[in-house]
Amino acid sequence: ARNLVKEFPIRSGGLIRRQVGAVQAVSDVSFSIAEGETLGLVGESGCGKSTLARVALNLIPATSGTVHFGETELTGLPARRMRALRRQMQLVFQDPYASLDPRMPVSEIIAEPLRIHDLYDSGGRQQVRDLMRTVGLKPEHGNRYPHEFSGGQRQRIGIARALALRPKLLVLDEPVSALDVSIQAGVLNLLQELQSELGLAYLFVSHDLSVVRHIADRIAVMYLGKIVETGPSEQMFTAPAHPYTHALISAIPLPDPRRERARERITVVGDLPSPADPPSGCRFRTRCPKFAMELSGEQQARCTDEEPELVDRNTGHPVACHFAEVRSLL
Ligand code: SF4
Ligand code: MG
Repeated sequence: ARNLVKEFPIRSGGLIRRQVGAVQAVSDVSFSIAEGETLGLVGESGCGKSTLARVALNLIPATSGTVHFGETELTGLPARRMRALRRQMQLVFQDPYASLDPRMPVSEIIAEPLRIHDLYDSGGRQQVRDLMRTVGLKPEHGNRYPHEFSGGQRQRIGIARALALRPKLLVLDEPVSALDVSIQAGVLNLLQELQSELGLAYLFVSHDLSVVRHIADRIAVMYLGKIVETGPSEQMFTAPAHPYTHALISAIPLPDPRRERARERITVVGDLPSPADPPSGCRFRTRCPKFAMELSGEQQARCTDEEPELVDRNTGHPVACHFAEVRSLL
């Protein structure tokens, strides 16, 4: 994905709904995912990650920018060719219950993509049974309905359905966020097994950095429509360079209470500003602890006036902060 922008028009109320502005939900975002690789896309709710995922899949059109899937450019692709390519990229939703038709038996839910693409033939029944087994469900439960399954099992049904068309890329939008922590690990392990068996690439979207830590090869942290830092997963934890990434990491509870007490929690205060009216200069400045506590007036002026670009600032990976290389108390 290169230089992706997604704007939504803001319209006035009343009978004649004139466009009075635009919300830029995704602002000039570029990223790539290799075959068999997982990119974790992390940020708080409302930062534009779900929109970015949908624009990248061409489920909603980009305002500008390009997306390539292999050699094929998706932007402006005729509907018929997009339909054929759609098989190779599937979306798994956060809330498995809301995304499964309650009146359909599970075997039909899993078979549906095959039917839509005219691929359900004499081998279809067996294919569905195999898919159920692949995701750890009992094939003999195929005639049951979604409400007869637990949350974790429902997410397995959603994954089986997504796998039916043998995709190369799965976009997982908060796939475990609706599940109890005790259930999350099972689904994450399943995703990892499927990836190594099937060579799948994942775009794993989550508001929770600790969830993507072990599953992602690389992580991109998003704030208010932009990627502010991206790099190899472990590096993001051992050498985070953006104050927002620092804050996200320090919000993760440590398993050891002694270490927990010794650690300074860095908190980001206030709400996410409206993407309709982002702060000038660095978008994070209104909530940036470094800006508030460590920078001189002159330095602060730079944050206010100049938008930082996402470039490597001697930190080993790209980061969008003017003062990323300045050692900090954070
Ligand atoms: Fe904070 Fe300034 Fe860096 Fe933005 S550019 S993250 S406001 S220090
Ligand atoms: Mg979302």
